[in-house]
Amino acid sequence: MSPLPVPEGSPFPTSSLPFGIGHHGDGRLRAWAAFGDHAVDLDGLMRSGAFLGLGLAPNIFAGPYLNQYLATGRDTWRAVRTRLREAVDDATPVVVAHTVARDELVMGLPTAPTDYVDFYSSLHHATNLGRMFRPDGDALLPNWRRIPIGYHGRTGTLVADGTPIPRPSGYRLVDGEPEVGPSTRLDIELEVGTVVGVGSELGVPIPIERAGDHLYGVCLVNDWSARDIQAFEYQPLGPFLGKSFATSVSPWLVSFDALEPFRVAPPTQEPPAADYLTTDEPWGFDLHLEVWFDSAAMRAAGTAPVRLSATSFADMYWTPAQQLAHLTVNGASTRPGDLFASGTVSGPTPGTEGSLIELTVNGERPIELPDGTTRSFLLDGDRVELRGWAGSDPARRISLGTVTGTVIPTKGAT
Ligand code: CA
Repeated sequence: MSPLPVPEGSPFPTSSLPFGIGHHGDGRLRAWAAFGDHAVDLDGLMRSGAFLGLGLAPNIFAGPYLNQYLATGRDTWRAVRTRLREAVDDATPVVVAHTVARDELVMGLPTAPTDYVDFYSSLHHATNLGRMFRPDGDALLPNWRRIPIGYHGRTGTLVADGTPIPRPSGYRLVDGEPEVGPSTRLDIELEVGTVVGVGSELGVPIPIERAGDHLYGVCLVNDWSARDIQAFEYQPLGPFLGKSFATSVSPWLVSFDALEPFRVAPPTQEPPAADYLTTDEPWGFDLHLEVWFDSAAMRAAGTAPVRLSATSFADMYWTPAQQLAHLTVNGASTRPGDLFASGTVSGPTPGTEGSLIELTVNGERPIELPDGTTRSFLLDGDRVELRGWAGSDPARRISLGTVTGTVIPTKGAT
């Protein structure tokens, strides 16, 4: 019996080995890899010589972000994961000495992104929102099927799992009149984040065929959204304060190498995408995503969280490779650790929507909770947890972990 057993069917098999940043009660943030119910201290392994000969800088896992490791490139990522998997499968004495229970870790943000982009790449989500925001026009604007629509977001308000989310304030319409005050239509967006490993030079687009050399892996993202502030401000330049107050990022980065068995062909695009957005490589992924909810009253009563949505990432219209090719086609540079979010992941049927505004049809059909109360948008004390995994076979899935946030009252004067 291994001293570090990984139960059969664990969503953290040693074929996955997601990396994250955390500390074990000592406050010293450093890199860890997760397997089974365990996590191994990568900095500890490094200092013990476990990665000798792989060309890694001595302190590469000692810092509070994975950026330096991400910059090393795919050959190194693969060599490190192969070496690590062998050591973990063998439960070598060095691994045993540096392994802790995963739930004892306090996790932070895995990377320090210099740039963050929020895309809008789900056909179902874009159609649902287009119908609500522009009821008299076409649900999809003419550009939507030509390019992955997105905007540059705010990296300084990317927050780690568990960070409380203060209710934002701003201008919104009250009975048709603009007024400043706390948002009354606070929402979530269920998204998958893609993390850049190797960056790129200013003026040099990344060809889509090279996306795999640059993209490291994925995480979960909750793009908290104040729909009332968003609706007032978004024309003509797009989302601003309605989105920038907080974006939650899950702690464990699952590499694209680990996701290789879960690649699927993305949907056929019509009209066909431009050459710079076209590749034969299948950049869709069989990811399953869920939204779970409980209120302060539910927690106080001991009521279990309820699942609000269960959806699939596999039919996202625009893929991570297309998003990367698009965001660099004008010569914009990228840097290790940069993050881009997929856009809200919504499916075509009720119960597969990735936001409350869709689930409640713009607030018109509130969700009934187990205690008989209802929700259209989030109230103070409400807690949302996103969950995700790759693979349809429960015995062979790999987890993307979870990301949780609880809404707290507006801070300061408004
Ligand atoms: Ca979003």
